[in-house]
Amino acid sequence: MTPGDKLLGRLLGRSSPLPFDATPPAFNGLQLQLDAQGHVLSITGTLRTQLAQHLLPDATPPLHSLLRANCALSIEGQPSDWQRHGLDLDFQGIAGQTLHTRGWIEPDGEHWTLRLLDVSDLLAGRQLAQHREQNHQLACQMSEQLRVCTLSRLPEVLNEHLASVAQRWRIPCIALALLDDGDQGWRIYGQYAAHDAPALWQTAQRLGTSLDSVNGNAPLSLDIARGHNDNPRLHSVFGNADGFLVPYRDGQGVAAWLLCGFYNSQSQTSERDWLNLTAALAAPLLSRLREQRHHQQLERVEALQGLLGTGWWELLPATQEIQLAPQLLRSLSLDDGPTRQPLDLWLELIHPADRQELGSRLHDLQALGKPLLTSVRLQRSDTEHPIWYRVQGQVLGVGDNRRWIGFMLDISDIKNQQLHAAAAHARLDNLIASSPAVIYVQRYVNGALQPVFFSDSLLPLLGWTLAECDGAALALLIHPEDRELYFDRTRQLLREGTVRSRYRVRDKQGHYHWLLDEAKLLRDDLGLPVEAVGLWLDVTEATLAAEQVKQSEERYRILVEDSPAMICRYRPDLTLTFGNTPLANYLECLPAQLPGVNLGEWLSTEQRHAFVQRIGQLTPEFPVSTAEISLQLPGREHAWWVWSDRGVFDDSGALVEVQAVGRDNTEVRRSQQQLTQSAKMATLGEMATGLAHEINQPLNVMRMAIVNVLKRLSNGDAQIDYLTEKLQRIDAQVQRAAKVVDHMRVFGRRSEIEQQPFDPAQAVEGTLSLLSEGLRGKGVEVRLTPADFSVKVIGYADQLEQVLINLMVNARDALLSQREKNPGLNPWIAVHTEHDSRHVRIWVEDNGGGIDPRLLERIFEPFFTTKPIGVGTGLGLSVSYGIVENMGGRLSVSNGEHGARFCVELPIITA
Ligand code: ADP
Repeated sequence: MTPGDKLLGRLLGRSSPLPFDATPPAFNGLQLQLDAQGHVLSITGTLRTQLAQHLLPDATPPLHSLLRANCALSIEGQPSDWQRHGLDLDFQGIAGQTLHTRGWIEPDGEHWTLRLLDVSDLLAGRQLAQHREQNHQLACQMSEQLRVCTLSRLPEVLNEHLASVAQRWRIPCIALALLDDGDQGWRIYGQYAAHDAPALWQTAQRLGTSLDSVNGNAPLSLDIARGHNDNPRLHSVFGNADGFLVPYRDGQGVAAWLLCGFYNSQSQTSERDWLNLTAALAAPLLSRLREQRHHQQLERVEALQGLLGTGWWELLPATQEIQLAPQLLRSLSLDDGPTRQPLDLWLELIHPADRQELGSRLHDLQALGKPLLTSVRLQRSDTEHPIWYRVQGQVLGVGDNRRWIGFMLDISDIKNQQLHAAAAHARLDNLIASSPAVIYVQRYVNGALQPVFFSDSLLPLLGWTLAECDGAALALLIHPEDRELYFDRTRQLLREGTVRSRYRVRDKQGHYHWLLDEAKLLRDDLGLPVEAVGLWLDVTEATLAAEQVKQSEERYRILVEDSPAMICRYRPDLTLTFGNTPLANYLECLPAQLPGVNLGEWLSTEQRHAFVQRIGQLTPEFPVSTAEISLQLPGREHAWWVWSDRGVFDDSGALVEVQAVGRDNTEVRRSQQQLTQSAKMATLGEMATGLAHEINQPLNVMRMAIVNVLKRLSNGDAQIDYLTEKLQRIDAQVQRAAKVVDHMRVFGRRSEIEQQPFDPAQAVEGTLSLLSEGLRGKGVEVRLTPADFSVKVIGYADQLEQVLINLMVNARDALLSQREKNPGLNPWIAVHTEHDSRHVRIWVEDNGGGIDPRLLERIFEPFFTTKPIGVGTGLGLSVSYGIVENMGGRLSVSNGEHGARFCVELPIITA
């Protein structure tokens, strides 16, 4: 029933119950009696009580004084003017309300009766309709504006709308909450608060999930003051303010809430209107936001495609075309072409090597729906840096809605890296396969290590495959003698994490290889063993070579030990580091006692000095030196060793060690000495005649003196002076004879054991003391140039004397035999000494005619003589040569102007 129907019913009196008694019922409305001027005379009717003013007795107020001001204007003139007009009059009601009435006026005698009915309902209905119309218009307007505004103005436009809603409904705080993008509950998208209202919300404020618990089917009024809030979670949204929430639902459920704070909807606006209004705001807003998100998504995807050098494509089989994303067109350098390209033209871009395959896969995609995934090169790529694309495609939809969509992605970087890596890998594999090393992996299974991988080099090395070296089989391939070693290696590997060992493994031919095994254990995060990785290196050759070296060292050691020669090694300070058995035997100790003994202890100071000096002259270029050394062993005879040293040098050329081989030369030395001695004796014997003369001479002088003295004594003419003079002469002669005899004794002695420094002039003098008288007696002149210097040579003075005696005796013999042929010859022997910085030279020259040049070379040979048998021995020069050489010097001969010229050259020693 519409309010209009109700009014009509009331007017027709249908709504009132039928009268059962005669008393006329009170007029169901307002009945005013007016006078002709429009003054109110009486008020009756049921509505009378609702009027603000009541008639005072005798008061007749004008009608308009009872009316609302705006309404009072609508009645002008007098009641008679109001006849036959519908009158709408608004009275001032109680409590400031308005009583809306409609009615008519009737004459009532001289007065007028105004009958009015309550039309508040009717008016309210109309107002409501008007209000709804306005609401609807506002909603449409807002919706439209939200739909057409630019995306950037969207929040601003929404806020404007919120403001107008707030103003229209007098809502102090209003906000629109949307579901957050990131699924984090609700968030205030826009809000408005009247300037005098406290701001309940901020734009972008998070509300969490508090709104999820609200029934989203109808608006909800929160009457906090009266405790009508059964949802405590909304406290967090509204605090203690009254609130009103209106949901907006879309296909997925509640998508937005309109929140009104400090507001409790008592208005005429129906729930449906609120829902519509909220929808008018939220629906276009959400759709615009979706549009915005979509747009951004698209932009991102496009940017990404550009960055990645990728892009989508779609096959259009109907036209044999392919549609490509603009980015893809650009990266394929087709940027000026349309996005649709003939399929063939697109395939032309692919390198011929990949084109056919791609074509066939595209066909499979279309015909069989088989997903496409392949990598292709571009035709235009150069050989060094090919451009690779990954092409992937799939079927979308079914039946007639099927689409063939995919993408192309530039994978040149990855692909080229892959190719490089593969090449490097292949090279590495090749290297490993061709090396004598095998890389293996052994998996840890229940405390044991099981081979699970061998590098390809296993086959060429041992001839086995992984299957043949599996599990326990490997242990059997290991040499029985080395198995324990292998098990030890595994235990150590598990215990310590790394191991290095060496054992023999049998190859397929049955030969054993020495393998150097280096392994490392890999553990997981918990420290438990996972697998062992290791390397086998074939060290057979090295091991055998080491074995051979060991054997040869052993042989060498035996050789050294068994050698009759004395072999030793010593440091430059002469400390022995090794000495063999013969050396130890010689020194009467054990070989083990030799290291640490100093060689110098067995040498005299001079010998040691000379020895160290000689060793000091060894160089890497001339590392060998040989010498005869003489040793003084405590309590033993002098020993002579021929000693050969070889220096061992380090990289910088410094002497590190000396290896020496020695031979006992004492016997040889002794026989040499004996030979020298015999020669000496022979010389002495030979000189006997001369010596007899040498001694006879003083004896004769003494005899003459004695005879003369005796004669004078018998004459009694013995003066003291005379006697003294004679006795002094005798004394001088005795001294002279004694000197000769002394010297002969000295000369006849054996030489000293060790060479001594001496002045060679000493030997010259000794020689002349023995020979000069004899020579003079034979008429041979001795021409001596006395040396005006003093130098030292090392050796034996008596032996040098022996040499000089030999030379002079030979000269004498040559002179005497020459004089036999030539009696007019004045024979002479000249002895002359000279020196330079390093040598002293003693020249012995005669005028005996020299030596036959053909014999010159041979005269130093032992037993070479030109003298008659029994006269010459042929040993004189040979022994002399040996003596001079032994002193480090040289004996040489040449023919001079008058005869032979012998030269004894000896090195001078410095202090
Ligand atoms: P021997 O004197 O017993 O013959 P030597 O070895 O002393 O032995 O001398 C060898 C030879 O050299 C002599 O036989 C002699 O022929 C020759 N000879 C040595 N000295 C001279 C010299 N001064 N003049 C000529 N011949 C010499």
